Amino acid sequence: MTRPLVANIDIAAMQHNLSVVRSTVPRAKIWGVVKANAYGHGLERSVRALNDADGFALIEMESAIHLREIGWKKPILLLEGFFYAHELPILARYNIAFAVHCDEQIDMLEKSRLDLPVDVHLKMNTGMNRLGFLPAEYSKAYERLKKIPNVREISHMTHFANSEVSGHKKMSVEEQLKRFDSGSAGLPGVRNLSNSGAILLHPQLRTDWVRPGVMLYGGTPGGKTAEEYGLKPVMTLSSEIIQIQNINEGDSVGYGSIFTATGPMKIGVVACGYADGYPRMAPEGTHVIVDGVKTRLVGRVSMDMITVDLTPVKDAHVGSKVTLWGNELPIDEVAEAAGTVGYELMCALSLRPRIVECW
Ligand SMILES: *Cc1c(COP(=O)(O)O)cnc(C)c1O
Repeated sequence: MTRPLVANIDIAAMQHNLSVVRSTVPRAKIWGVVKANAYGHGLERSVRALNDADGFALIEMESAIHLREIGWKKPILLLEGFFYAHELPILARYNIAFAVHCDEQIDMLEKSRLDLPVDVHLKMNTGMNRLGFLPAEYSKAYERLKKIPNVREISHMTHFANSEVSGHKKMSVEEQLKRFDSGSAGLPGVRNLSNSGAILLHPQLRTDWVRPGVMLYGGTPGGKTAEEYGLKPVMTLSSEIIQIQNINEGDSVGYGSIFTATGPMKIGVVACGYADGYPRMAPEGTHVIVDGVKTRLVGRVSMDMITVDLTPVKDAHVGSKVTLWGNELPIDEVAEAAGTVGYELMCALSLRPRIVECW
């Protein structure tokens, strides 16, 4: 016997979401962003599903090498660049492109005396104030890179702080773009700009490559719901009721006894907890679906179980199917209830749920 908790990964939905990227920005090449184990969906599985992408972008060098070893021949990009000089010959050997965002990296590149070429994505800090060169320092960084033997292609990259809203008051896409254009003016090289939010809300933006992540997995970057963007959920996390408790007025449930019944009610115990990736911060009232009926979490999320109100579910029984998120219940809705984003729930899926692929 196995625990009934299953994360269903819908390969056809992932492919559908890739096709949404294609039709939204038909002229751009697509970096499928597969960092963090493809946002929790499984790297190899996702790469197989997203085989039509023009390249894959990620953070982890080991995973990038793994992609080469399983036969991916198209481009690979490390979004956070490299960290230590000893990584450079390895990246060159596997033909893995990487972001360059600070002078220290250029120092390492200058000293490395590479005997194979590397492609780099020079990153500009256009307002996010995380990684990258300021617009005023950018062309100097470009010129330094240009002089390094075996630095082959130099692409231009930036990242948006608020792409999922139009006209953000503090830092808009328009303002970042203006800075990007001024910092990179006159420099040859392709532009690599848009994340999911920018693809969906700013499809007209001039970018040679786009970098969709969350939308490939059927999550929304914000703004509208995933469904309104035409995206299909990829991960459905489901389990079963493993016991029913009939409790009375004044009885409380779970750790901390934070939920107390105001009358007789049925509590369903579900085999899924925070050790599986269900957010411990999900409060009472967070939606769950039991046998197709929307109901709510009650009591504290524990490590291996949650407890739900079965009052609206007439025929609930041990073995009733419970959907935690996915089809019928958007992951972003659950995330919002828990004070986070769908991204985090996807990435936090633990190794414990059984993974099943479907088409
Ligand atoms: C993660 C990441 C992306 C993908 O962002 P989404 O919002 O998931 O589309 C794009 N670019 C960079 C630099 C990233 O780190």
